[in-house]
Amino acid sequence: ETLINRIAAGEVIHRPASALKELLENCLDAGATSIRVTVKDGGLKLLQIQDNGCGIRRADLPILAERFTTSKLTSFSDLSKIATYGFRGEALASMSHVSHLSVVTKTKTETCAWKASYSYGKLVETQPGQTPDPKPCAGNDGTTITIEDLFYNTPTRLSALRSPAEEYSRILDVLTKYAIHNPGVAFICKKAGTAAPDLSTPSSSSTTQAIGMLYGHSIAKELLSTETSSSTEPDTAEFWRAEVHFTNANYQSKKTIFLLFINHRLVESSRMKRALEATYNGVLPKGSFPFIYLSLVLDPRSVDVNVHPTKKEVHFLNEEAISEQIADALLQTLTSKGQ
Ligand code: ADP
Ligand code: MG
Repeated sequence: ETLINRIAAGEVIHRPASALKELLENCLDAGATSIRVTVKDGGLKLLQIQDNGCGIRRADLPILAERFTTSKLTSFSDLSKIATYGFRGEALASMSHVSHLSVVTKTKTETCAWKASYSYGKLVETQPGQTPDPKPCAGNDGTTITIEDLFYNTPTRLSALRSPAEEYSRILDVLTKYAIHNPGVAFICKKAGTAAPDLSTPSSSSTTQAIGMLYGHSIAKELLSTETSSSTEPDTAEFWRAEVHFTNANYQSKKTIFLLFINHRLVESSRMKRALEATYNGVLPKGSFPFIYLSLVLDPRSVDVNVHPTKKEVHFLNEEAISEQIADALLQTLTSKGQ
C-alpha cells in the first residue's frame, strides 16, 4: 500500500467559500501576516488571494497543481499529523480541474517573481503561443493565487449554487471567522473594481478585540473567557487545551453563533455545539441564544484522519468527555461572573 493510497480520497471544492477556505489555510501555513481577497460575481468569475507569506520556490511550480503535491508532507510517520491539519496536497489540484488557476509567487531568495498557470493538474501557457513554463515577472515576496471561472466545466455544480450575493456572503463569513482566529493577521476583502473593502481588520488586535470589531460591540461588551485543558502532559495522545470566549446572560440572540476551530482549522461539531448551548439552559430565557468561540487544540493523533475532507462534522478521541469538561468550565464562569 502506498502513501498516496492512505491519504483520504480526493477533496471536492463545493463552492467559492470552500475554495477560499483552502486558499486561506495555505496562506496562514505560509506564515502570512497580511491577506487580501478580491472577488467578482461571488467568487465564480474571480477569486484572488494575495499573501505576504514564504512564497513557492520556482523549482516546485511545475508540480504544484498535481495531486498529493504538498511541501508539508515529509515522511510516512507524519501522515496522521499531516492529514489532520489538512495537508493532503489536494486543494490546488482540485481547483485546477474546475477553474482556470494561476499563481504569481516569490520567495525571499528569488530575485524576481514567477507566474504559472494550470489546467487539469498541469502547467499550461499563460498566454497563447507561449510555452507552459513559469515566466519571470515583477512581484513582491509572497503568493497571489487567482481562480477564474470556477466550475466553468461542471455545469451541474454551477447550477447548485446560490446567487453571487449569497456566495459572497459565505466568503465573508469564512474570512470573518479566520480573522477572529488569527488576530495577528491583517485581512482585507473587497469586490473587484470597488475601492472600499467589505472587510478590513488590522493586525495585532486580540481575539476579543477582533470579535468586537467583526461581530459588533453588543457582543464584545458581554464577553466572558475561560481556558481549560487535559490533565495529561503535552505530547501524549490524550493532551488537549481549549480557549473559549462566550457571551453572558445579558446577550440574547435569536440563534447561536458558534465558531469552532480544531487545530486552527474551521470545523463543525454538532455535538460540541449542543453541549455548549445546553450550559445556557436556565441562564438565558427560552428562545435566546449565545455567541461562542472555541479554539481547541488536540493531539493530531486523536483526530479521526479517515473522515473524508468533504464531511463537515469532525470527530475525535474522548469527544464526549472533552465537550463535558469545556461545558463545565463555561458554566462555572457564566454563573460566577455572568450575572
Ligand atoms: P496542502 O496544503 O495540503 O499541502 P495544497 O494543494 O493546498 O496542499 O497546496 C500545495 C502546496 O502548495 C503546499 O504544500 C505549499 O507548499 C504550496 N502552497 C500553496 N499555497 C501557498 C501559499 N499561499 N504560500 C506558500 N506556499 C503555498
Ligand atoms: Mg492546503
